[in-house]
Amino acid sequence: MLVFTTVQQLTSFLKKQTGQKIGLVPTMGYLHQGHLSLVKKAKKECTLVIVSIFVNPLQFGPQEDLVKYPRNLEQDKKMLNKVKADVLFFPSVQEMYPGKPQKVLADKKITALACGSKRPGHFDGVTTVVYRLFELVKPTAAYFGLKDYQQYLVIKKMVASKKLPINIIGCPIIRERDGVAKSSRNIYLNKQERRQARSLSQTIELAEKLLKKKKLSVFQTKKTLVTLVEKTPLVKIDYIEILNADNLQPLKKYLPQKTVILLAFYVGKTRLIDNKRF
Ligand code: AMP
Repeated sequence: MLVFTTVQQLTSFLKKQTGQKIGLVPTMGYLHQGHLSLVKKAKKECTLVIVSIFVNPLQFGPQEDLVKYPRNLEQDKKMLNKVKADVLFFPSVQEMYPGKPQKVLADKKITALACGSKRPGHFDGVTTVVYRLFELVKPTAAYFGLKDYQQYLVIKKMVASKKLPINIIGCPIIRERDGVAKSSRNIYLNKQERRQARSLSQTIELAEKLLKKKKLSVFQTKKTLVTLVEKTPLVKIDYIEILNADNLQPLKKYLPQKTVILLAFYVGKTRLIDNKRF
C-alpha cells in the first residue's frame, strides 16, 4: 500500500492513473471491521481504492472529543494492508486546509433534526472535508457507512446539488455480536457502559415492533421508548427521532420502508449513535 501525507504526492500519483475506476473511503482512522467493510466493497467494485484518514477539526464542536479522539496509525496501516487498500492518504490539517478552509454548507432541511440540531456546524465540517477530498481524488465512487445515516444523506445531497459525477455508495452497519454498532468511540466505554450500550440497538428493535406490529403512532412510540430508556442507568438520551427516511422530515405514523429511527445516547460520557431504516 502506498502512503501519501501531502496533497502534492497524492495528485502527482493520480495524474498517472488514467482509466482507473477510483473508489474513495473517507475515515477518521482507528479502524475497525465497519471501516474495512467499506474498503472491501470498494475493492470489489473499483480498480484503485484510496482510503483517507483525517481527524477533521471542522466537524468537532468546542466541547467535543477532537483532542482525545483515538488514533493508531500503525494498526490502521496493518488492517488496510490486509484488505489490500491501494493508497492511504493521511494528511495533516495544514495540508488539508492551507489557509482558511473553503466552507461547503450542508443542506439545511436534511440537517434540521437529529445530529444536525444537536451538533451545530458538524455537517458543514463534514461537507467541507468531503468536498475537498472529492476535489483532490476525483473518485468514480465514494463509500460511506449507513451507521452515519444523516451524513450519508447529506453527502448524497451535496453531490447532487454540485452535480459531481461521483457515485455515493451506502454500506450496511457492521455490529458486534450483541448488536452494538462498531464504532471507534466504543474504546471509551468501560465494561459496565459497554453492556449498557446495547440499549441503542434494543431501542431500535422495540421501536420497529411498536410501529409495525402494534401500529402505534410515532408520538406514542417515542413516548414509550423514552420512558424505557430513562430507566436504564448510565444511559442518557440525546435524541430519539423517527423520521421520513428520504428527507429526514417528521412523520406522524409508520411509512413502510420509508421510516428511519435515529438515536444518539450518552453512555456514561460517551455519545453513541445508531439507526435503522424499515
Ligand atoms: P469515521 O471514521 O467514524 O468517520 O467513519 C468513516 C466511515 O466508516 C463512515 O462512512 C462511517 O459511516 C463508516 N462506519 C463507521 N462505523 C461503521 C459501522 N459500524 N458499519 C459500517 N460503516 C461504518
